[in-house]
Amino acid sequence: MERFNTLLEAAEFSATRCISWSFATSNDRYDVNGLLTLAETSDSENPIDEDSFYVVSPTGAIGLCNDGEDIDWLFLSDNKPKEDLPLTYQDVPQMKFCSQCGEPVAPSAHFCGKCGNRLR
Ligand SMILES: [Zn+2]
Repeated sequence: MERFNTLLEAAEFSATRCISWSFATSNDRYDVNGLLTLAETSDSENPIDEDSFYVVSPTGAIGLCNDGEDIDWLFLSDNKPKEDLPLTYQDVPQMKFCSQCGEPVAPSAHFCGKCGNRLR
C-alpha cells in the first residue's frame, strides 16, 4: 500500500480505483466530488501528525495509519464494502529466507520447505 501525507492525495489516488465510498462508522456516502471536498476541508482544519499517514487499499478504501502501524479505515469502497482490510500497516512484508538455499520461507517456519534446513 502506498502512503499519503494528506487526505486529499489519498482521495485523489483512491478516485482512480473506485467512484463512491461510504464512511466506515456511519451510512454517509460520498461521490468523487464529495470526497475531494471533504478531504480538502479535513486537511486544512484537521491535519494529521507527522508520524501518521493515509493509506489506500487495492479497491480504493481509505485508511488513516495513526502511529505507523494501526490502521483506522475511514472510507470503504462501495465496489467491495466487505473487503478484508488489514488492521496494521507493514512497510515490508515479513519474510525470511533459508540460510542454506535462499528459498523464501514463512516467518513462523522452523524448517525450509525446499532443502529441509533447520531455520533459526
Ligand atoms: Zn533451504
